Amino acid sequence: MKEAFRRIYGAHPEGVWAAPGRVNLIGEHTDYNDGFALPIAIPQHTLVAARKRQDDRLRLHSAQGDGPVLDLRVTQLTPGAVTTWAAYPAGVVWALREAGHRLGGADLHIDSTVPVGAGLSSSAALECAVAFAYNDLYDLNLSAPALALICQRAENGFAGVPCGAMDQLASACCTAGAALHLDIRAGSHEQVPFAPEAQGLSLLVVDTRVKHDLGDGAYAALRTGCERAASLLGLEALRDLTPADLPRAARALPAHLLPLVRHVVKENARVTHAVSHLRAGHLAALGSILTDGHASLRDDFRISCAESDLVVDTALAYGALGARMTGGGFGGSVIVLAEEGRAEGIGVAVTTAFRAAGYQLPHLFPITPAAGARRIS
Ligand code: ADP
Ligand code: MG
Repeated sequence: MKEAFRRIYGAHPEGVWAAPGRVNLIGEHTDYNDGFALPIAIPQHTLVAARKRQDDRLRLHSAQGDGPVLDLRVTQLTPGAVTTWAAYPAGVVWALREAGHRLGGADLHIDSTVPVGAGLSSSAALECAVAFAYNDLYDLNLSAPALALICQRAENGFAGVPCGAMDQLASACCTAGAALHLDIRAGSHEQVPFAPEAQGLSLLVVDTRVKHDLGDGAYAALRTGCERAASLLGLEALRDLTPADLPRAARALPAHLLPLVRHVVKENARVTHAVSHLRAGHLAALGSILTDGHASLRDDFRISCAESDLVVDTALAYGALGARMTGGGFGGSVIVLAEEGRAEGIGVAVTTAFRAAGYQLPHLFPITPAAGARRIS
């Protein structure tokens, strides 16, 4: 990283910062409903080598960006003005300035091992790495959760993606060997020990390598549908409902909103159950929670797709304890929990099934819960 930075900018960086991608164990589309989620950081991460500048130029280069160095001015950043990948790092600087921090420029070089656009949150990893770098370069002393919320603001307000805060909180706050129990309304998080390998279990990621176009507008529509249901029920957010409230909600809501509400309410309950199992050391019990979560996203939220369903069905047929799509939906990645001895057979079966279906072959890799964003040199 340092050598690449020197080649690009002709000087040494002041430091290098890292922020990981994430997979969410359970708690999907719950963050913007003020609910719960349970992500882990993955070992794949984004690195930013950075050097503070005395003027207001923000120079950006990414090994994945496939272009020349971009040259922006931090004092002239306005939402909508940057439409390339640079909207993510520039958005972080914009959001920090919006929050009242008097910041100047920097030179940044970015490189990442997080697959881009695979539902593993390369966008949050990029934002968090930049935010942590700026936090140190400019001595802002912001906490990891505060930086995560700055990154969410960057993605919402500058890059124009109406996401909740889960991805950024996961990248910023996760720790190795633990899942992060997020309570979005309370603004709190707790580390829950999670070491599947210690119990002879494997957690696999299957990147389906598809991203269906539908995704972008559909995400916003789902979010609006959830907010509409909450307002019709006189609630601040769907977080305020429990499964026992569902019959009452069914009477009060138009039929098309009910499946959305059912997913969110039951998904929040699934997070709570998953945390209890993890705390009790019953990791295998997570399996059926994952599979139930997938069925809910497929049938109630309707954001799965044929490729993700094929991974889940094949994995279960070959003995997985549980599997589900993770991330916003319409493609991306699936996680599979399995006994170690079965993981390889499941991987082969999934690849064979994709070949038979004529799909592009997926990428498969095992993961263990990794560390969140930090300075690495
Ligand atoms: P995900 O976050 O699931 O990977 P998104 O669509 O939210 O998918 O974010 C992907 C976008 O983030 C890319 O299209 C690109 O604009 C930006 N991005 C992520 N990582 C990098 C990187 N290392 N270099 C340049 N741009 C990146
Ligand atoms: Mg993203």
